[in-house]
Amino acid sequence: SQQDVVPVFRRASNYTDKIALKDTYGRYTYGNLFMGAKELSSDISVNVGRKNSERVLFLCPNDASYVLTQWAIWMSGQIAVPLSSLHPQNLLEYYCNDSNAKLLVTIPEYAELMNRVAKNCNKQLLVLDDKLRQNATQKVPSRQCDMDAGLSKDFYNRSNSMILYTSGTTGNPKGVVLTHKNIVTQITTLLDAWRWTENDTILHCLPLHHVHGIVNALMCPLYAGAKINMLPKFDKDNVWSHLLGVNETASNRITTFMAVPTIYTKLIEEHKKLFSQDSKMCEHIKQILKTKVRLMVSGSAPLPIPVYEKWLEISGHKLLERFGMTEIGMCLSNTYEGNREPGYVGLPLPGVSVRLALKQESSDNDYENLIEVTNCNGQINIKKNKLIEGNPVGELHVKGESVFKEYFNRPQATQKEFTEDGWFKTGDLAKFNMDKELFKMLGRTSVDIIKCGGYKVSALEIETHLLGHPKVADTAVVGLKDETWGEIICAIVVLKPEATMDQEEMREWAKTKMPEYTVPKQLKIVQQIDKNAMGKINKKELIKKLFPEN
Ligand code: ATP
Ligand code: MG
Repeated sequence: SQQDVVPVFRRASNYTDKIALKDTYGRYTYGNLFMGAKELSSDISVNVGRKNSERVLFLCPNDASYVLTQWAIWMSGQIAVPLSSLHPQNLLEYYCNDSNAKLLVTIPEYAELMNRVAKNCNKQLLVLDDKLRQNATQKVPSRQCDMDAGLSKDFYNRSNSMILYTSGTTGNPKGVVLTHKNIVTQITTLLDAWRWTENDTILHCLPLHHVHGIVNALMCPLYAGAKINMLPKFDKDNVWSHLLGVNETASNRITTFMAVPTIYTKLIEEHKKLFSQDSKMCEHIKQILKTKVRLMVSGSAPLPIPVYEKWLEISGHKLLERFGMTEIGMCLSNTYEGNREPGYVGLPLPGVSVRLALKQESSDNDYENLIEVTNCNGQINIKKNKLIEGNPVGELHVKGESVFKEYFNRPQATQKEFTEDGWFKTGDLAKFNMDKELFKMLGRTSVDIIKCGGYKVSALEIETHLLGHPKVADTAVVGLKDETWGEIICAIVVLKPEATMDQEEMREWAKTKMPEYTVPKQLKIVQQIDKNAMGKINKKELIKKLFPEN
């Protein structure tokens, strides 16, 4: 469409006196945030110099300083590159060099660390005023024209907005260049699909360096004029008490919540520990969540069916699972109103087209199209290849206005990830269920699809089964090299406290649950399975650590 791209800070004038955000320091109206960012943007401009679209890296905690800095960077016409305090210094330096940063910005709390980064990378550092947040609560626009900042409409219609780094689950994180248009498309699509209104309040507890925490959970509510209740980080007690509205006034009640599967798992464990003996309390909790919260979303990693079911039991909510990536934003989603099937990620969002494709032996760039599903203004269109029988399985490819422009400074990688006719190759395998007309994710072709004796087995499906075992607390299923079979299936398992299990027991149980050829041959019991900030397992690293000889 030819409509102008309106960056999120420009929307603030519609909601001047409304509360936009609440953090541990205070409450901020949209007017407060706008005026605070406007002031900061001149500091940034002075530090960056004359040119636009320079990369400004910022390390801010999960509070108003993050929004102020992000908006200020956009107002001054630069590209925002968010960093996370979860990252060690060497990774911060990697981002700094990789994105060819012009300026680093941080708050006093991280000044020492960022000073070291700036020195090692030979960059300039701007440390924000300690009173930034407190001052922002006082900054009130007196006239409508105060609410004017930033560059021309035309600038935002064609410029880059952010570089977000991929989670680094399968290799070095890649800088994904997103235009303002990409971001605004992603936001407006989700506002519609998930029915955001200015009466919503989201409980925000996600890291702020990935799409999930930034676009879905922060920019969507800001665009809609809604309220964000921002926690410094995920903490199970704190999240539970906010979800239940302990000490909260009616206008502060949480209406939406978004999290990664591991967060739901932790909330479930805590619920069990605290309330499982008290059935009246359990019923009470369920009633509160059912009546006051309207939407609970899961994404960033596959949601195991046992987690979906357990959460339904304790909260009365069918989690809305969606599939997305840094490169494409949200792509497939279950519908807001319709039934949500556990294990399925729904259909393309409006404006998104997807297909399942099979790579041909003949050439790297030849794909057989199995099925194409498009969503044009809410109208789903399914075009199936007539030669294909049953439920098609193939690599998920995506097209649409939300798809990123390029990897920063990696022309070859960019080229490799697109087909000649412009589809972005996600690297994820998916199945389309013809009866349900829904997509199911089967995992990454690089690590989750195990090739074992002629079969291609989805590690995700086995993981979901294993998590249904009463003794299993966590699991990662991997393929280990094997001369006879190509790969053999190995289940890496964390047991629940005091539980024991051996290979035979696991296999006997598994045989009753899943096809014989998917039953793991090996069992490896471990104390813990490491996950990155987005709750994802780096399987290559895990294999290297546990099976160095592999
Ligand atoms: P890197 O590209 O650096 O290896 P990454 O792919 O984990 O890291 P992200 O862009 O944050 O970085 O994550 C996208 C990936 O997350 C997808 O390719 C997919 O494998 C996984 N994913 C996201 N949502 C879901 C979901 N609902 N079900 C299954 N997988 C999901
Ligand atoms: Mg990726």
